[in-house]
Amino acid sequence: MSNTNHVELAAIHRFDLGILICKSCNEVIATLPTDGYKKFYGLCKNMTCIEKNKEANK
Ligand SMILES: [Zn+2]
Repeated sequence: MSNTNHVELAAIHRFDLGILICKSCNEVIATLPTDGYKKFYGLCKNMTCIEKNKEANK
């Protein structure tokens, strides 16, 4: 066995500095290739988070 697969994986890895965080549960939803470190807030697909967000907007 060679190390070829490991090297390829390292090459594919991107440094996405932007992170999208669920404002309800603080779970990282996605990473974004932004210019510099940035945080974005959104909602994940979790039903409890969607319900919580609805109540917060009342
Ligand atoms: Zn969430």
